[in-house]
Amino acid sequence: MNVFPRNFNRDFPIVDHGEGIYIYDNKGNRYLDGCSGAVSANIGYGNKEVATAIYEQICKTSFAHGSIWDTEINEIAAKKILNIAPEGFTRVWFVNAGSEATEAAIKMAHQYHLEKNNGVSEKSLVIGRENSYHGSTLGTLGIGGNVNRRRLFMPMIVDHPKIETHYCYRCPFNKEYPTCGLECANKLEEKINRVGAKYISAFIAEPIIGSTAGAVVAPEGYWKKVRDICDKYDILLIADEVMTGVGRTGKNFCVDHWGVKPDIIASAKGLAACYFPVGATLVTKKVADVFSKGSGVFAHSHTFNGMPAASAAVSAVMDFYVKNDLCGNAYKMGGIIETRYAKEVADCDYVGDFRGKGLMWGIEFVKDKKTKEPFARKDDVATKFRDFCLNKGFTVYPGTGMVDGINGDNIMIAPPLIINEEQLDELYGKFVSALRLFSSQLKKSR
Ligand code: PLP
Repeated sequence: MNVFPRNFNRDFPIVDHGEGIYIYDNKGNRYLDGCSGAVSANIGYGNKEVATAIYEQICKTSFAHGSIWDTEINEIAAKKILNIAPEGFTRVWFVNAGSEATEAAIKMAHQYHLEKNNGVSEKSLVIGRENSYHGSTLGTLGIGGNVNRRRLFMPMIVDHPKIETHYCYRCPFNKEYPTCGLECANKLEEKINRVGAKYISAFIAEPIIGSTAGAVVAPEGYWKKVRDICDKYDILLIADEVMTGVGRTGKNFCVDHWGVKPDIIASAKGLAACYFPVGATLVTKKVADVFSKGSGVFAHSHTFNGMPAASAAVSAVMDFYVKNDLCGNAYKMGGIIETRYAKEVADCDYVGDFRGKGLMWGIEFVKDKKTKEPFARKDDVATKFRDFCLNKGFTVYPGTGMVDGINGDNIMIAPPLIINEEQLDELYGKFVSALRLFSSQLKKSR
């Protein structure tokens, strides 16, 4: 074996091929992809239209370095992304992954304030949140709050200020919505005043917290409030929509649920739906104008910014996404999940909470539904459930640590956006029976 694996202690099944929402291993077993890989393979597998578009682009040109060239396909892809972006977004900075999209966003925010103030600005800190994930580079680990992913690397990280996330199931302030007065959003203003607005360039947040917390949805009013606070203190609002963007939650971008316009959106996963590694930092006119009227140059780049094949993938995925109204489908499927399955899932033993929107849902496992006590870390419930489901022929996405950084087990269920009602029934049928069997085995073993 020559590949340095993600985990030396685990035998990974070998994928042979994928077709639609199904993956087949090299032994001929079929798996329903209940989590779209990493909540990313949004149009499923084996899409020939997209594969052909990438192939044809590579035959035309495989590369055109951004310091010398532009390509038509980059412009086409950017236009198609902006067509689904909230109003006011006018530019797309292409990168290769979600971590690069958020890292570019925070560097852009820093440079934005410098450009705006003739090179004199101390606004360089980014306020992030506990229970968040914005990527695995050292820069993005500094703004993220996923303890598991940060701990080993703490000595290497430049840490940025953090506030608590919205987390109504376990409100960090022991309050209840709506009488809480959105304390979680008020904390942003408190933190700004504590640190000093003159040092803060941006606030970054996931509109629905993904892998760290398991599809925790922002309460109504949260995004409007943080938007107002950011405006008050001349701080840019960055929405990390790497996971939630491009239809995943039943809107093109998740912030559309609340009609809020961030200054920058980080996007990736669904953009090229895993047919090519692509990310993008979407920028409003307000931000782009400061650069174009300032130095004109964003002091940041990668060799592979705007690969023609990547843009061909984005362009073809966007066409498929619009033509098949995948966003509308995610919205409709989300409604079915709510009415047909939410109660059934939530009633299962050890399920403390079931939450989400569109085709992004998560469950939180608890040892005791009344006290909400989590399982011990050593029990590794989320990972065990992931393996249990794999044995039953479908995938789910595990996450841990949302209770206190260490404890807490969640799994996300987020199939490709092409899923139809019959397949959704198949997935949730498997899911509910796996939950029941898993919890009865868990009960016996305790
Ligand atoms: N931001 C969010 C919200 C994510 O969910 C992820 C990945 O899961 C990232 C950033 C990092 O993206 P990537 O793994 O493509 O670097």
